[in-house]
Amino acid sequence: MSNSPLLQIQPRTSPARLPRNGKRFFIWTIGCQMNEADSSKVAAMLQEVGYEPTRNEDDADIVVLNSCVVRQSAEDRVSGKLNNLARLKREKPEVPLVLTGCMVTRQQEKLRQTFPHVDLFFDPSDFGKLQQVVPELSDLDDDLQQLPHYYLPEQQPGTASVTAYIPIIYGCNFLCSYCIVPYRRGKETSRPLVDIVREVERVVETGVREVTLLGQTVNAYGHDLPDTPSLAMLLREVDKVPGLERLRFLTSHPKYMSDEIIDTMADLRTGCEHMNLPVQAGDNEVLRRMRRTYTRDLWMERIAYTRRQMPDVTVATDIIVGFPGETDEQFAQTYDMLERTRCEKVHLAMYSPRPGTLSARWDDDIPHEEKHRRHQVLEKLQERQCTEINNERLGKSYEVLVEGLSKGRWTGRTRGNTLVHFDDNRDLTGKLVDVRITRTSPWFLIGEATGAPR
Ligand code: SAH
Ligand code: SF4
Repeated sequence: MSNSPLLQIQPRTSPARLPRNGKRFFIWTIGCQMNEADSSKVAAMLQEVGYEPTRNEDDADIVVLNSCVVRQSAEDRVSGKLNNLARLKREKPEVPLVLTGCMVTRQQEKLRQTFPHVDLFFDPSDFGKLQQVVPELSDLDDDLQQLPHYYLPEQQPGTASVTAYIPIIYGCNFLCSYCIVPYRRGKETSRPLVDIVREVERVVETGVREVTLLGQTVNAYGHDLPDTPSLAMLLREVDKVPGLERLRFLTSHPKYMSDEIIDTMADLRTGCEHMNLPVQAGDNEVLRRMRRTYTRDLWMERIAYTRRQMPDVTVATDIIVGFPGETDEQFAQTYDMLERTRCEKVHLAMYSPRPGTLSARWDDDIPHEEKHRRHQVLEKLQERQCTEINNERLGKSYEVLVEGLSKGRWTGRTRGNTLVHFDDNRDLTGKLVDVRITRTSPWFLIGEATGAPR
């Protein structure tokens, strides 16, 4: 899952339990889409008891920070924000300051010492703890279970969102040697299939036309549930929801990327021609030490199979450069694999040791400059490949789901998740428009609308 530092407040879809109390909340979120979804849940809880969102922390009656520690750089941003808030806390000691997200461990002693001005720490599985600083929530105990899990990214102020993200499985059962997620998010826990389908129906009623199902290992969905439904089964049920136009899911683990899931996506009316399949490295020895449990060939074969079933599919992946002991030759294997595979999007990260993980016990022996160099080499490769891929799109038409205006131009994504901008005098928010591509760049396409918006 990718990181996006946005503040997103979910609009209410049902009346609040308690009338407005004049109090305001401020939520600051960094990290993956799962954090965005958790922040939405906190927002929904507070709205339920009469609070309203504010974009200004100085106006807030409660401040919640939702943290990410997947890399040191994210952790540093959280610490920076927490230190900044010390001023606010000095001026308004009565405003509770709450920290949640992956920075919060079960042992909170050290956190308490480092950030003594934080009133409450709660880990992302323990939303009920908010009651300690918002006592009104205690009247809602049972209703907290009913609160939505989804979040609606803010696309354009004042207009309803056309896309929604819905968590379907929490946690992760893998133990990749570099990764802190399983330590902070616990074991895989799938949500019941009917709850998810109901939530899709609910967001579609508010105007959403595209849904992305979320999980750290989203394609492992269902194995822990009594009747062991699969992701493919869930996709088939969600596809039936009238009004839904597009369906995506992320993040998949290569080991669980079954033929059945791929065939189902290829078959379904709403299944988008896009696959997000992190590989992390292109060398088998590095993959083994990362404890990824698959080989480079398996990943490449899964991509090849997907392309046979869905010829237009676009592929996104994640890569870590500078893993402990990664030699020049091993890095060259990653380069070679990406060169052969032509991904549309590669999320690149420089290895960052995370305390408590297996690889943190190994020497972080690739110097920062070398990590940076490898990062740049892959960035260059990506720019070249995306230029080629996008040039081939010139003159072709793509269905774009318009998310809103950006710098005066309509902006949306194709089914393959490519960003498209175009000019048009009509109000096209939330519409599906066919756009013929007239100009390209490595990172987006420009075009003109053809035919009637739907
Ligand atoms: N569940 C997903 C990834 C979750 S973490 C998967 O299995 O791929 C999101 C991304 O952060 C990862 O794909 C990885 O590229 C990056 N990441 C995780 N731990 C990291 C670390 N210690 N250093 C650098 N990047 C890391
Ligand atoms: Fe982390 Fe690996 Fe789980 Fe992804 S699959 S969340 S990288 S442990």
